Amino acid sequence: MNDPHATNDSSAGLTQAQLAHALAAATEHLRRIGVTHLPHGDVQAGARWLAQYLPSPAAAESPPPAAAAVPPPAAAAPATPNAAPPIATPPASAAPPAAENTPHKSYPLALPLAERQTQLQQMAAQVAACTRCAELVASRRQTVFGEGSAEARVVFFGEAPGAEEDQQGRPFVGRAGQLLDKMIEACTLRREDVYLLNTLKCRPPNNRNPLPDELDNCRPYFEAQLDVIQPEYIVCLGLFAAQSLLRSKLSVGRLRGRFHDYQGSKVLVTYHPSYLLRNVSAKRFAWQDLQMMMADMGVSP
Ligand code: SF4
Repeated sequence: MNDPHATNDSSAGLTQAQLAHALAAATEHLRRIGVTHLPHGDVQAGARWLAQYLPSPAAAESPPPAAAAVPPPAAAAPATPNAAPPIATPPASAAPPAAENTPHKSYPLALPLAERQTQLQQMAAQVAACTRCAELVASRRQTVFGEGSAEARVVFFGEAPGAEEDQQGRPFVGRAGQLLDKMIEACTLRREDVYLLNTLKCRPPNNRNPLPDELDNCRPYFEAQLDVIQPEYIVCLGLFAAQSLLRSKLSVGRLRGRFHDYQGSKVLVTYHPSYLLRNVSAKRFAWQDLQMMMADMGVSP
């Protein structure tokens, strides 16, 4: 039986399956060497774009075994419909995120904006119905999924909703949120340009710290969000966000001041706005951290 993906692309002389595989392999390679903004669009258009920069998929670093068998786009080759594995896809929007954490080395293939927005909406509906943490479910008014641009260049990643967030169902809307808005503006960004989310989607009672089990339970949700958004920068606000994302035991003071990596995103660690409200002297350190990111972004404050 013929592979339904093995249709010929007459302009490049490749099958659909070969193009799809070449695109997946080349995307993985480009991410590994630091290219973070890749084109959206159909597989064939993407493969042709990549062909300008990657003459042969065999040149990619450590490609999957079948990748070496994919000829360069300029060469007409016979169809090998069973040679190419399926192209990487983001988490299925219809299914809940996996219960156990299975970190990837890089994000899945980037999606067009409309598809990102759809997937985030579907995830938000799943989160709203989540009952994994019995104590939080019993005390929450509503879940706080996150909000902002689905193609944000910068994501701000916090700890957990507070009372005001629990009331409104939106992240960072209390006093700490107002300070975060100023921090975002200081980066010459607008709140609608970035994406805001937390490690936990439900407010811990009396604003207590998140428990390890709760962090584990909720982790698949923020991982799935980041898989969809694929930001260039992630700003971890406070200890729980930083330790959770980076799987680290180090303090904010030890983690800040340099970039870390999360699947190709540059991760910056700084103090949570609520901490800055209580410790005004730490604001200058947070400003230093944001300035470091802006310099890397090529943005002047
Ligand atoms: S904190 Fe996360 S995992 Fe726990 S009940 Fe809320 S949405 Fe579900």
